[in-house]
Amino acid sequence: MPDIRMIVYDLDGTLYRDRRHFRRYCELLAAGAPRLRAFERDWEEIEEERHPLRVGMFFNGRTGQICGPKGLMTWEGEVVQAGSAFYDDLVNDVEQERDLGDWLYIGDLWWSMIALAAWHRVPPERLRESFLATRAYMMEDTVPLRTVPGLREFIQARNREGVVQILATNSPEPDSWAIIGKLGLKGLFQVCSFVTGKPAGLLPRLREWAAKFGVSLDEVLMVGDNYRNDVVPARRGGCRTFFLDPHRVPHPVHATYHERRIESLFVHWNSPQNSR
Ligand SMILES: [Mg+2]
Repeated sequence: MPDIRMIVYDLDGTLYRDRRHFRRYCELLAAGAPRLRAFERDWEEIEEERHPLRVGMFFNGRTGQICGPKGLMTWEGEVVQAGSAFYDDLVNDVEQERDLGDWLYIGDLWWSMIALAAWHRVPPERLRESFLATRAYMMEDTVPLRTVPGLREFIQARNREGVVQILATNSPEPDSWAIIGKLGLKGLFQVCSFVTGKPAGLLPRLREWAAKFGVSLDEVLMVGDNYRNDVVPARRGGCRTFFLDPHRVPHPVHATYHERRIESLFVHWNSPQNSR
């Protein structure tokens, strides 16, 4: 991986891969849903990738429809308008950073949860409260967070090489700090940006950091698991991108690196043809 002088990391879904907190999020949301069992069953199907709604698809908050490569579908997966044209258009809107109207891009499991809550008519204030309660749960010392073996060592080694490393998350500061601490990553980033407002907020920050640390944007590598938030704006700025895609999104991906596991980053960095 030649000439990378700055790495910017997303946090959730990127620097750890635990999913147990989604179970808690689901319980909190379902308590406000009129049909508790149906809510829980839908979540199980989403988590196990048996549900029609998958990461990389779209959900319409107004009509409750799903849009995927097969066409427009009901929540249960019945195709009501076959063909990929509509999906291709929405994917193009994501690539061009256009407004999606009533459609939500399901960029990660947090967005699956938002769609699920909308489908089950969970009031927005309950969604917000449940999100914050889930983040508080993740902060608790007794709740473990599964770390990525070798990640801490990778970041430390890059620091020794003088690579600037930055964290940029959309999540709030207190819980994100707690998570960074649990992962053993405290003190390893030159800058930590919370509530970054990705996607729109990312590129202005990347430009700011590149200027501050004297690197050019094509020497920046953005690492993240949400295609719309992490990859699209960084690519537009001319940065290199590492798209972490454990769910295998069904649309084309335009990223410098496209991998299912973050460990592949370590391999790319050290690969002989890219030796530094
Ligand atoms: Mg993420």
